[in-house]
Amino acid sequence: MAKIYYCPEPYPDELIGSTLVRAGRHLGLSIKRTHDLFGLTPTSHWPLLFQNQLQSIAIALGKPADELLFKHTPFLYVTSFLSYEQTARMTSNYCRSQHGKSSALSQSATIGGAVARYCEACIEDDQRVYGEDYWHRRHNLPFVSRCWKHGTRLKMSVRKNAGISVIGLPHEQHGSTVTPAFHEHIHDRLERLSIALLDSTFRQPPVVWQRSYRQIAQQRGFPRQGNQLSSIAIAKGFIGYFGKAELIRAGLNVPDKPNSWPVTLLRLNETSNVSAKHILMQVYLQCAPVPEVVTTTVPGPRPLNCKLMDPVFASAIRKRVANLAIGCRITVSQLLNQLGILQQVLHNRSMLPLTAAAIAEFRSTEFSERQTGRRPRKNFRSAKKTQRNQGSY
Ligand SMILES: [Zn+2]
Repeated sequence: MAKIYYCPEPYPDELIGSTLVRAGRHLGLSIKRTHDLFGLTPTSHWPLLFQNQLQSIAIALGKPADELLFKHTPFLYVTSFLSYEQTARMTSNYCRSQHGKSSALSQSATIGGAVARYCEACIEDDQRVYGEDYWHRRHNLPFVSRCWKHGTRLKMSVRKNAGISVIGLPHEQHGSTVTPAFHEHIHDRLERLSIALLDSTFRQPPVVWQRSYRQIAQQRGFPRQGNQLSSIAIAKGFIGYFGKAELIRAGLNVPDKPNSWPVTLLRLNETSNVSAKHILMQVYLQCAPVPEVVTTTVPGPRPLNCKLMDPVFASAIRKRVANLAIGCRITVSQLLNQLGILQQVLHNRSMLPLTAAAIAEFRSTEFSERQTGRRPRKNFRSAKKTQRNQGSY
């Protein structure tokens, strides 16, 4: 059990890792020594969003562990698109276990945007009200680039590989201004939706979310392909609305393949419970223009570069004729077929004068089945048949 005997009361919306940084400061201890008090392996930083030893901290604070989980971590955001049962199971596992899986939760909580972010105006407010500043949950959700209270652009810790850990309080950072991943008007909606999830205890199974998304898409007249919504049109519209580069920057790339993640969110046999993906999908379905129908055509044969190929064909014909065995008789079609150029020559006859000249030369030779002006045609029937099937040669 933990050896901790002191932990300060968390401030409103304070992240759990922030409370522990303050605990060390109040006690005049290094972060490593503070870890020791909690019975943890000493490290030089605190994970900001989730803690493995939640139960120990809850005991030190005289608070239920689930209250810490719901009010001082982004747990409700991370589990927003799970069912009631799944959320309850995760809550119970996490609060009871001495070694909860905080890294997996932290990872889910940062898809779509990195932490650690803070607001300079909030630092001033907090220092005035509480005498110290702290890390806020509402600043550290994916897509959030402005302070919900002051409307100012947030700053982000520049500590290399800061990831989801901190070693100090916001006022000790020399952060850079957070650049929004998406266009300004899109961000307004993304930010509001993300922050609202922190207070939402509404849950429904992922498949019901999926059904409701499909319903909106159908009501809005999104293009269909057979019985289903057109996955190509949806993926194309999604990328067009958010921007390819912007999606990549947010770590939510939509790969150029048939069942990319925006499509699986609408499909019955697959879905996702990643909150950031649902948030983007909701904004897309409500705000983006109805995607255009995408018509796909099978690519036809590439046009022949006649100018380039005419002398090549002519030379190939002459070379072939020169190498024919004595006594051999073939038609023009057979000759061209042997060279693998019959269709190309048939479709571009008027554009291949050198080839036509080489063919005319061949016709006047002994090798031509239909030698011009000399010998009556043999096998007239079969020659006629070939002519019908393959054009005029
Ligand atoms: Zn603020």
